[in-house]
Amino acid sequence: MHELSIVTGVVEICEQHAGARRVLAVNLVIGALSGVVPEALEFCFEAATKDTLLEGAKLGIERVAATGFCAACGKVSVIEGFIDPCPRCGGFPLEMRSGAEMRVKDLEVE
Ligand SMILES: [Zn+2]
Repeated sequence: MHELSIVTGVVEICEQHAGARRVLAVNLVIGALSGVVPEALEFCFEAATKDTLLEGAKLGIERVAATGFCAACGKVSVIEGFIDPCPRCGGFPLEMRSGAEMRVKDLEVE
């Protein structure tokens, strides 16, 4: 139940920022290599937010592609895995620029 603990964490973050106000919507940013399955989050969101300030809130998920910077050719490319070489020149290793994140982007309160 990896995703359930993530939703519990999201609820805690939102409650800290919302004060005592009800949360109407929360938007998350999920990187392609974050290990988080958006569908699984959506699946347990309703149950995990019951009896919290987020009950009934709309869940928005923004997916971010994984990208890495190649020092050899100076380009940032979309990658499929942490240990992928540069798709342009084969350079390795790449410096990860995005894709591992899972964060609360913003939330809408009453
Ligand atoms: Zn390269």
